[in-house]
Amino acid sequence: SRQVYDFAEGNAKMRELLGGKGANLAEMTSIGLPVPPGFTITTEACNIYQSEKCLSPGLIKEVEEHLQRLQQKTSKVFGSGDNPLLVSVRSGAAISMPGMMDTILNLGLNDKTVEALARQSNNRRFALDCYRRFIQMFAEVVLKVDHYLFERLLEQVKTEYQAASDMELEPQALEKVIDSYFVIIKDQGKTFPQDPWKQLLMSIEAVFSSWNNQRAIVYRRLNKIPDSLGTAVNIQSMVFGNFGNDSGTGVAFTRNPSTGEKELYGEFLLNAQGEDVVAGIRTPLPISQLNRTMPQVYEEFASIASLLEKHYRDMQDIEFTIERGKLYLLQTRAGKRSAAAAVKIAVDMVKEDIITEEEALLKVEPKQLDQLLHPRIDPEAELEALATGLPASPGAATGKVVFDADEAEKMGSAGEKVILVRPETTPDDIHGIVASQGVLTSRGGMTSHAAVVARGMGKPCICGAESIKIDIDKKTFSVEGVLVAQGDIISLDGSTGKIFKGEAPLISPQLSGELNELLAWADKKRVLSVRANADNPQDAAKARSFGAEGIGLCRTEHMFMGHDRLALVQEMILAETKENRDKALQKLLPLQRDDFIGIFREMKGLPTTIRLLDPPLHEFLPNLEELLVEIAVMKEKGESGQKLQQKHFLLKKVKSLAEFNPMLGHRGCRLGLVFPEIYAVQVRAIFQAAAKVMKEGIQVKPEIMIPLVGHYRELEKLKALVDKEAKAVQEEEGINFTYSVGTMIELPRACLTADKIAESAEFFSFGTNDLTQTTFGFSRDDAEGKFLPFYLQQKILPDNPFMVLDREGVGKIMKMGVELGRKTKPDIKLGICGEHGGDPSSIAFCHELGLDYVSCSPFRVPIARLAAAQAAIRHKN
Ligand code: PEP
Ligand code: MG
Repeated sequence: SRQVYDFAEGNAKMRELLGGKGANLAEMTSIGLPVPPGFTITTEACNIYQSEKCLSPGLIKEVEEHLQRLQQKTSKVFGSGDNPLLVSVRSGAAISMPGMMDTILNLGLNDKTVEALARQSNNRRFALDCYRRFIQMFAEVVLKVDHYLFERLLEQVKTEYQAASDMELEPQALEKVIDSYFVIIKDQGKTFPQDPWKQLLMSIEAVFSSWNNQRAIVYRRLNKIPDSLGTAVNIQSMVFGNFGNDSGTGVAFTRNPSTGEKELYGEFLLNAQGEDVVAGIRTPLPISQLNRTMPQVYEEFASIASLLEKHYRDMQDIEFTIERGKLYLLQTRAGKRSAAAAVKIAVDMVKEDIITEEEALLKVEPKQLDQLLHPRIDPEAELEALATGLPASPGAATGKVVFDADEAEKMGSAGEKVILVRPETTPDDIHGIVASQGVLTSRGGMTSHAAVVARGMGKPCICGAESIKIDIDKKTFSVEGVLVAQGDIISLDGSTGKIFKGEAPLISPQLSGELNELLAWADKKRVLSVRANADNPQDAAKARSFGAEGIGLCRTEHMFMGHDRLALVQEMILAETKENRDKALQKLLPLQRDDFIGIFREMKGLPTTIRLLDPPLHEFLPNLEELLVEIAVMKEKGESGQKLQQKHFLLKKVKSLAEFNPMLGHRGCRLGLVFPEIYAVQVRAIFQAAAKVMKEGIQVKPEIMIPLVGHYRELEKLKALVDKEAKAVQEEEGINFTYSVGTMIELPRACLTADKIAESAEFFSFGTNDLTQTTFGFSRDDAEGKFLPFYLQQKILPDNPFMVLDREGVGKIMKMGVELGRKTKPDIKLGICGEHGGDPSSIAFCHELGLDYVSCSPFRVPIARLAAAQAAIRHKN
């Protein structure tokens, strides 16, 4: 099948085959926008190349034919004649991977055609500038000659001719650069091909190969882009932004990618080409300036930008070039944006009648909301900023300063919080950015590499902070006399661009106006209800403010860990007789009751699922090894008597409670069955709290949840215990309350026998943390630190199953649990409260399963609301 398509033959829907850039160039061509003509070699051709390691004769023939047509269209000749055709060769995968793969501009130049170009354009400086750029790019990308060698030489010549930038180099100087470039190439044992056809074929191969360069591989792994997609290659006739001061090149977003504000947002450079704008070599001008320098071009660009936005129904990131006052478009794609911008743009576009509410809901990545729900630097704190740069990606970050990506990675993986500080970043720094809390650069604009990448990752970033002077060798930077060295702590406020010394105070986030609006639309669309996992009144309040419709999991053991509780809990565990245990439990009762009172008051009648004690008791006692050390030290000091005796007693108890597999041990309902008095006291505390809050005139809806049930008899017995306590408290308090009893489904056997378990359960809540652990047989405490990273790297598993629900296995038995449970009790309430309840893809699965609700940590409630709406919309469509 064919492997090359002319721009005039494709369209935006052919993204998989033509890559994003190719498909959009075709689309723009078809709607009549000024796109220089060209053609695209398909991603399929790339995949063939990857397996055969050479360009097939069929492909070469197709390229030849399309090049022929391009010559006709442009009335230029490739490789010869008075009017030579020059082309760009650019990568473009189906999913955008900015800056990860290679590009070559001005291809087709050689010692002869450069002279023709000089004559034809009547601008020798321009022709030589193109040639200089081409030789350098070709040598770097295709011949793999070190970038640094060329840059160093260019700097030398600039100094010699007293040129501030390369645009000031006169023809004579450029000739010198070109000659020296050839020497560099030769010294490296490489040959620069004078034959343009050879240049073209070698460049196509190089772009294909760049699919597998290190940074592209890392980027794909980070963004979960399949290796099998391949990149397309776009061959396009050149237009020249480096022709003089009536020419230029730039990139612009149709809206502000950081705040979402509706304004053209970007940068351009006069007399410049290609990557000059993003490379940070010359400081570009804001796009608004173009309005002053070339008002007509600006007008045209603004109207095309608005047209493209409406056409694609999304904010666009557009690359353009101006050649002698004429505007050309070189690329358009959906612009990467911060979470705040994503929300604002989606909401605004609905109001502007560009998209529907449903489309708006699908435009915001739920996980991205996380950025908006984290603490930010307290604007009231009145801190003095060390310096201010461009607010390139919002959010707060604090960490130790590092000046090198490798170092950042090293420290970051050792668990340290670091901030990567660089003059500018390049795609080779990507691993360092991943490992950092935030990024600070002294050069480059809002569309610089650091800004784009950080925004994509949701990391705070400040760029172009020109007042900080970085000394990479000394590993320091200074601002007006203040010296900051590697390892010093700084804080970044990516929303204001302010840089602070030390750790800045943070405040809790609130849902902004637009986010509230979007989430209100989500609430109308979603079928799943969203609850929160909350163990105390503060978390309950937080969850409510984020829109939680109940508590799906209140883990009572966290109440036992409080400093005023632990001693009592230990007393209870250490009790040798039931009588003593009861005494300790009676002291715990009022404390637990107060906890529940606080929670019920916050929840104001919303369903509140409270899970009875779950972890093995040894978790409440000192660690065995520490205890042994303590005893040894006491003995060495010659201590004896009661204190030592007590320690020995504790040691005996710790040893007796120790288990080889505590996760499979005496925990969950097994505790409640063996020590019914523990569960009885917990239930009593819950019901007494319910009675008290009801008497205050506030509704309560307690749901008692029994953990780790695997056999229906376990639940049957414990339900009887709950009912008995409820009855007793209702009589004592003289008030009736409704409550329900249900169970967690977190063992495979519970799923397999859910029909029997449902007989005594009014609800099921899937505890997918334990269910994943027990279905895979992976320890949830150890797997992630041991073999799981290997599994992920080797692609044995597609995702960490403790984060993203394993539909194939765990999902399958959940489905069985749902079906069997509903067979016995068609209206049984079904939810999920494992970590997966806050993960968008797992939430989509829960929607498909037909669960009633998901429950997640309070901060993830907005994420879950949006994800649940998206699941409903996608399912319907
Ligand atoms: C679970 O197992 O999924 C669960 C929610 O309980 P925990 O994490 O407390 O074991
Ligand atoms: Mg569990």
